[in-house]
Amino acid sequence: MSHKMLDDHNKIDQRNSSEESEDHDKQPSSDRPSTLVNSEPVHFESCCDFSARRSLPSSVDPPPKYLDSSTSVQLMSAVMSVIESTMQTLDNDLRALSLQIHDHPELMFEERYAHDILCDFMERHGFAVTRHYLGLETAWRAEFTHGKGGRTLGINSEMDALPVIGHACGHNLIAVSGVGVAIAVKSALQTYDVPGTVVLLGTPGEEGGAGKAVMLERGGYRDIDVCLMCHPAAGPAGSVSLGSCLAMQSLEAEFFGRSAHAGNAPWDGTNALDAAFLAYSSISVLRQQIKPDHRIHGVIQGSKSAVNVIPDYAGMRWLVRAPTKDQLSVLVERVKACFEGAALATSCRFKLTEGIPYHDLRQNSVLAACFSHAVSNSFGMNIGQRGFGASTDFGNVSYALPSLHPSFAIPTVANGGNHTPAFAESARSTDAHKATMTVSKGLAWTGFRVIADDELFQQVRGAYESGPAGVQQLILSDSDTHQTEL
Ligand SMILES: [Zn+2]
Ligand SMILES: [Zn+2]
Repeated sequence: MSHKMLDDHNKIDQRNSSEESEDHDKQPSSDRPSTLVNSEPVHFESCCDFSARRSLPSSVDPPPKYLDSSTSVQLMSAVMSVIESTMQTLDNDLRALSLQIHDHPELMFEERYAHDILCDFMERHGFAVTRHYLGLETAWRAEFTHGKGGRTLGINSEMDALPVIGHACGHNLIAVSGVGVAIAVKSALQTYDVPGTVVLLGTPGEEGGAGKAVMLERGGYRDIDVCLMCHPAAGPAGSVSLGSCLAMQSLEAEFFGRSAHAGNAPWDGTNALDAAFLAYSSISVLRQQIKPDHRIHGVIQGSKSAVNVIPDYAGMRWLVRAPTKDQLSVLVERVKACFEGAALATSCRFKLTEGIPYHDLRQNSVLAACFSHAVSNSFGMNIGQRGFGASTDFGNVSYALPSLHPSFAIPTVANGGNHTPAFAESARSTDAHKATMTVSKGLAWTGFRVIADDELFQQVRGAYESGPAGVQQLILSDSDTHQTEL
């Protein structure tokens, strides 16, 4: 904080406390940020007293109390200006990092190039880096602590690309967003002398590997109070969505039969492909009887069998999705019954392998309101709540601790959403970078407040502990303007 700003704040602070509380009560409700769900209203104007966490030496003027709306606005603009100037300083470097990662697409758990350049970058910016974190070759952790005590903010940087189409989910943007947020919060903690820790996790294997779920299980989030990240998607310029994502379970079904000459003695064979065909048909019929926000989709894996040989093996891979992990459990059992029925009908043996489940995304309503307030007020972004028919391993994180995962729009061509070659092109555009930087500023602001503001953090915890009542609701209708597939 500049000397002038401290002076300004101290002048305001010289008023007596009753005057302050009167002003506080008189603040027009229209000036208050609103919550995004039907929970208890959240008032942030009294939450800016982050000075309460500070223990300053007696020779330093006591920190101001930020209780009235005018000071709150001043403070917001002061913190945001530190964040903005830090991000501006980093901008060229982050753009270069983003393009380097984009130009070296690496599949899940093979993100060695991204691992190395991101770790190097964080070390150069004063973070203590642990490479190959938690026994995962391409996971990493970068940590910075200011002062003693204080809360710990977590941020996630994804890195992996998709087979054939490269960075068609824009994880290069997520990677540099995490870097920018972590360094911007570090800068704000130092500027305002607020004790706390920033932990940036390099999280591998999002595209099917459930990397975050593995890291969670191995204790990677144990000391983190709140976790933030963002994800690019298609949509109108300047739009952000805080909707949920579907819970997801991967299933691999394998059928084993017996080979025979398909013309000479087909009765000697047991046809594994028939089992796969029946399973596919059964699931296709099942789809008619499931809810619109449930999803089942799969492929029969390629076979090198000759056409005149009864296939003795067939493999299928499926993804099953539902709005909550409880609903997912029910749907998964119905899909399993299709496999079992097909195996029984064809006399094949059957083996089922279940992947690590992805939980639905629980967007913490208080974090969502804080972030929305920042990006709509400071940058004019439009906030929506449309949920996604996609899934993220960050959902598992969101069950374990208070979390936020905004999805933000980057420019794309028509039908050029996530997981298309067009989106890979979009993810390297200048406009996509700009949108990433804007959202990152809002996340940095939110993250700084989580560390600095006791009252806000208690509200965040309260929303988390209230379970589904404290999270954004899933809305899968097309009424919202923001659309994506992750
Ligand atoms: Zn993605
Ligand atoms: Zn994706």
